[in-house]
Amino acid sequence: MNNQSILCPCGNANKEYTDCCARYLNGHEDAATAEALMRSRYTAYTFENEDYLLATWHPSTRPDSLKLAEGPHKKWLGLRVSRHEQTGRDHSIVEFVARYKVGGRAHRLHEISRFVREGGRWLYVDGETSPAAG
Ligand SMILES: [Zn+2]
Repeated sequence: MNNQSILCPCGNANKEYTDCCARYLNGHEDAATAEALMRSRYTAYTFENEDYLLATWHPSTRPDSLKLAEGPHKKWLGLRVSRHEQTGRDHSIVEFVARYKVGGRAHRLHEISRFVREGGRWLYVDGETSPAAG
């Protein structure tokens, strides 16, 4: 797939992928904020980039595998970040709504995610999800 001139799936200010999340997914740069990491992880989901998702997951909560290639295929439609709050020097929460379709049905994932910074790198810890209507 040619990713050279597509808009970044994370929807950040309509930036192109190469100017947005690509540097993180390519491993050239660590995300400077939890929000940037969260956006890059959303983008990784749209590309089914399981390696990146696991690499940015805190070891204490990281699953062995996400098996993204198995099960019903999710078509990710968009991301809206509603809150990014640094709750401590190395702790942040990010609240977002992600929209996706499975088998033609639209869903919304509303999650408040927790992130921690270790060794200068932000990592995803866990999240509370609430199924939002519509
Ligand atoms: Zn992006």
